Amino acid sequence: MKLRLLLIEDEPEIRRFTRNALEKADFAVDEADSLLTATHALNHAKPDLILLDLGLPDGDGLQLIDRIRNWSSTPILVLSARSQEQQKVDALHAGADDFLVKPFGIAEMVARVQALLRRHHKQAEDETPIVRFGDVEVDFSRHLVVKQGVAVHLTAIEFKLLGVLIRQAGKVVTQSALMQQVWGNSQQDNSHYLRIYISRLRKKLENDPSRPVYLLNELGVGYRFKN
Ligand code: CA
Repeated sequence: MKLRLLLIEDEPEIRRFTRNALEKADFAVDEADSLLTATHALNHAKPDLILLDLGLPDGDGLQLIDRIRNWSSTPILVLSARSQEQQKVDALHAGADDFLVKPFGIAEMVARVQALLRRHHKQAEDETPIVRFGDVEVDFSRHLVVKQGVAVHLTAIEFKLLGVLIRQAGKVVTQSALMQQVWGNSQQDNSHYLRIYISRLRKKLENDPSRPVYLLNELGVGYRFKN
């Protein structure tokens, strides 16, 4: 059976090409063009994933994220306009899983949808203590990291930060959420620590730390572990 996606977007052109691409990728797509029609659709069927435009004619998509998160962990991919940094951060805080900036590429959009669905599915399965990416293997049960067969020493904070990012792989984790989960507080004036620790992790784990492919920076928002 096909996975069902709900596409909430008021611009017909974006709706059309997004829907076409998703159907080509073998998803079934329902559409809504306002908060009202989205609420109606959600009352009648439970989608496997929601694509949500924030600027809707009858209100802000943020309200919908709040409401959905009261009863469901269905992945939400936000479609946001460029340069609305604060809006993206608010959406992630409200419980969105990821965002795409308009105009977005079709291939990127489909890849994000698939990654979110995989991650959501994985959460439901038993967590495996060993995670591999590239030539790196992380063993969470034994606190061991190996790169190209050689043990890599990580400090306790580095290991914790890596774990927080890996457990939310594919998702943008905001700076304040990272600081909350690693250091136990989210004071913005500590954000330079985060940069330092990310850069140390890149030096230890990335093949080219100046061009990271796993520990990615989402400018002005946070970090994403990509595997
Ligand atoms: Ca809109």
